[in-house]
Amino acid sequence: MNRREWLKRMGAAAAGAAGPAAAQAQQGGAKAALPLTEYQPKSMLHTAGTRVPRAKFPVIDFHTHITWGPMLEPGEKVVFNDTPEALLPVMDRRNLRTMIDVTGGVGQGLKESIARLQTAHPGRFIVFTEPWWSKAAEPGYAAFQAAEIERAHAAGAHGIKLLKTLGLYLRENVKTGKLVKVDDPRFDPMWETAGSLGMPIAIHTSDPEAFFLPVDRFNERYEELNAHPDWSFHGQDFPSNMELQEARLRVIARHPKTTFVCLHVADSENLEMVTGWMDKYPNMWVDIAARIGELGRQPRASRRFFERFQDRIVFGTDATPKGAEFPQQYFCDDLYEIYYRFLETEDEYFDYAPAPTPPQGRWRIYGVGLPDAILEKVYHKNAERALRL
Ligand SMILES: [Zn+2]
Repeated sequence: MNRREWLKRMGAAAAGAAGPAAAQAQQGGAKAALPLTEYQPKSMLHTAGTRVPRAKFPVIDFHTHITWGPMLEPGEKVVFNDTPEALLPVMDRRNLRTMIDVTGGVGQGLKESIARLQTAHPGRFIVFTEPWWSKAAEPGYAAFQAAEIERAHAAGAHGIKLLKTLGLYLRENVKTGKLVKVDDPRFDPMWETAGSLGMPIAIHTSDPEAFFLPVDRFNERYEELNAHPDWSFHGQDFPSNMELQEARLRVIARHPKTTFVCLHVADSENLEMVTGWMDKYPNMWVDIAARIGELGRQPRASRRFFERFQDRIVFGTDATPKGAEFPQQYFCDDLYEIYYRFLETEDEYFDYAPAPTPPQGRWRIYGVGLPDAILEKVYHKNAERALRL
């Protein structure tokens, strides 16, 4: 399904679901309540709409999911979300030189990811490995995991990706028992080995604060959480956002020779706090994946953040081919154009995702208009340095 078909289907589904209230509202003058899901207001602002079909400099997308596996068993068997042949034309059109497939899997799965992407298309795809979570409860795991990183590196993996599995899903007996903490010492040999091999750690910890709050009418991500109830970490035995963030900071402090690229701007809703952390820890980097919705609604603070940390911010999108259920990370031409518009222009009040309704919250964004010197670093130079390319 291409994007046009997808949008058409979404539109048809919305129209089909529209009740009498919507129909009445459409006729105008209605006082009836309109269900939130049917509300798609069009901005009446007359503002510049700059098209940026190609990035000003070649791009490395540091954060994509071309392959995928189950969260607690990343894959000896990887699923390819699409073929490289389908991705390359979009990449060429958008000046996207390289996609980093972060969820490349482990063992045999990793070997397959590397063979079909990185080896078959040198320079266009780079593959990361993942911790072998399903073995985390076994005795001797710490040494095994460190050795496994060495094997993955020898097989061609350039970095290590951690989904929010650590801290929010992985338990003492993998699926049962207490949640394993981000700074659990059993991972120390892995962090150290990654540092000594020059493999950056791409680490996703915690989530937007609204995911830890009740899903009620005060929750600014109500629609997103309603669509993905499994994304809520409210209640049960889940730690707070701050507990998760502090555990990750202890890891970053403990392993100063290892580069930690904290995904999703580490905590995109609190740039002042992230600024304090990055000032303190020179081995802490961030990517901007799936968070231009956050950065773009605080454009002045974001611009200062880009200026201050221009050497430690990498471009990323979280792009997932065939990921239409998450429009903010659905791999397509439009997704990249929105990111480039955000970074390169000072356009005002535009959609942060290719979707009829803003999927992460009902707001729009403003471009930060970065100068060329910063753009070039964010688009590719910083990633090249992190990956020692
Ligand atoms: Zn991701």
